[in-house]
This record gives sequence, C-alpha cells and structure tokens, in this order.
Amino acid sequence: MSRIRARFWDPAGKRYGIPTYPWRMGPAHLLTRRQLTARGLRPGGQGVQAQILWASRRHGAPGVRAAYLYDVRFALPKRTATPAQREALAKANAARRTCPDCRRDAGYVLPRHLGTCLDCAQTPTDLKEVA
Ligand SMILES: [Zn+2]
Repeated sequence: MSRIRARFWDPAGKRYGIPTYPWRMGPAHLLTRRQLTARGLRPGGQGVQAQILWASRRHGAPGVRAAYLYDVRFALPKRTATPAQREALAKANAARRTCPDCRRDAGYVLPRHLGTCLDCAQTPTDLKEVA
C-alpha cells in the first residue's frame, strides 16, 4: 500500500472517529448514498457508517475530500409516493408556478424575489391598470 493510501487507511476509526478507507478500498457492503439509490435503496435511518477519504487535486479546490458510506445491510427500499402524496406534490408545484397577479400558470416556478410571473414583473404599474 502506498504511503498516501496508508494515510487514509483506518478501518477501526481510531484516527478519524469512524472507519475510514482510501479511495476504492472500502468494503463491498459499504456504499455511498448515490450507490444505494442506483440499487433502489435508501440509508433507512442509519447514520454514516464509514467514509472514503482522498486527496483532491481538482483545480481550485485542493484538499481532502470525503464520501460518506452506508451499510447496505441496514438499507431499506426506496419509498414510493402514494397517489395522495403525488397529487399534493403536483398541487404544490402548480401553486408555485401560478402568478397571483394574472392568475396564469407561468410554466415555471415564480422567482421568489418578484412574487409574480416575469411578464407581470416587467409591466409598469400604470400600464397594468390599462390592460
Ligand atoms: Zn403574471
């Protein structure tokens, strides 16, 4: 094992507080949230079980980066929304797209700082009264 890898080799978590592995050296049952999602799973209430640490050479953001791992054995199937939940969600999204001034569905989520659709925001108040 190279010295750089040994720096992040801490399966017992003595140095880092939680079990820590170098890049590509984590045990097979520990997965990132993204890897769980790819298998149709979610962490399911368990906390972070371990981490992968690696030295990032990315331009502008050098330093040690971490990926948090969850135990696939404690993972649960991804929740699927019930029809009622989906309906409520659709309603909430529609409300976020509906302009309170012209009452139209703008087709996009209204910018919060405007509170109206872009058309209404751009119409000067005196013209709006005529229209
Ligand atoms: Zn509007």
